[in-house]
Amino acid sequence: MLHLSAYVGVIISYSHTITLGSLLSGDRLIRYMWGIFFAYVLVLVVLARWSSVIHAIRKPLTVVEVQRETEDTVSVVLGGSHITNYSGEAGQFITVRMLKRGTWWKSNPYSLSAAPTTAGMRITVKDRGDASAATFRLKRGDKVAVEGPYGIATPDIFDGSRPLLIAGGVGVTPVRAMLECLPKGSQPLVLLRARKVDEIPHYKEICDLTEARGGEVRLVLGRTAQLKSRDPFAPKILHSLVPNLTNCVAFVCGPTSLTFAARKGLREAGLAPSRIHLELPWW
Ligand SMILES: Cc1cc2nc3c(=O)[nH]c(=O)nc-3n(C[C@H](O)[C@H](O)[C@H](O)COP(=O)(O)OP(=O)(O)OC[C@H]3O[C@@H](n4cnc5c(N)ncnc54)[C@H](O)[C@@H]3O)c2cc1C
Repeated sequence: MLHLSAYVGVIISYSHTITLGSLLSGDRLIRYMWGIFFAYVLVLVVLARWSSVIHAIRKPLTVVEVQRETEDTVSVVLGGSHITNYSGEAGQFITVRMLKRGTWWKSNPYSLSAAPTTAGMRITVKDRGDASAATFRLKRGDKVAVEGPYGIATPDIFDGSRPLLIAGGVGVTPVRAMLECLPKGSQPLVLLRARKVDEIPHYKEICDLTEARGGEVRLVLGRTAQLKSRDPFAPKILHSLVPNLTNCVAFVCGPTSLTFAARKGLREAGLAPSRIHLELPWW
């Protein structure tokens, strides 16, 4: 609202300076020049704010594959002839606008759940509300406007240190994509928090990718109230799960409570804040 009212303020100030301002109202030439400057700024604002949206709508991607992953998640591969306009990295996210009645006006962010290639970009979506539920109804051939990829947490953050990847729920998506790009022998340690294994999307892919890199997947399963320790990220528990924890670089993604609990536990366990990367909580 504040953002939109700023535009209204600028428009009102324009007519005010032209008709009432003592500097401009008396001189026709200066009034025209003022109008041209205003129009120039308007064009720049429209280009900066809307050109990527217009471009994404004019050159949409095509739904190539839709696959149910768990009871409440679905993965969608986006490809087609315009995929070559996109380049991105594992760990990044895209914004997705389904070009259908009722959804075209809304764009939602989703992390890539596989490293992007020229064949396509995959997202995995949990059913939460109107837009995410609509992805379950996508069919092969549907058009989708995509902006991005955006985001700075890519596999480079590990910079040769042992990767510690912590995820909860559908927060596994960037973790799954990053694993694909880690070098052989990087020995990633993946901690997954869920109530049941069946709830973890791409669980088998995560296990296979981790094993191929000499790493390990550890699970913390069950409702929080039923866990042996109420805080699965307490420093003592983290040290028992992760040997040489302080030499790791951690990436955490998941619900707000999990993300902040993991950050607190990691810090108290002695991991330097510069070695902890959070995908800011989204849901
Ligand atoms: C960078 C980023 C990456 C994301 N990656 C994924 C992904 O890989 N897979 C996935 O399933 N989701 C992901 N999300 C979350 C996803 O964008 C939202 O769940 C989705 O936009 C919800 O839209 P909706 O219209 O379906 O639900 P809405 O009707 O908008 O919301 C449904 C419920 O979810 C809550 N909610 C929605 N969005 C958020 C939010 N951003 N933060 C906190 N609560 C929220 C609302 O309060 C409401 O209770 C990501 C979000 C961000 C910011």
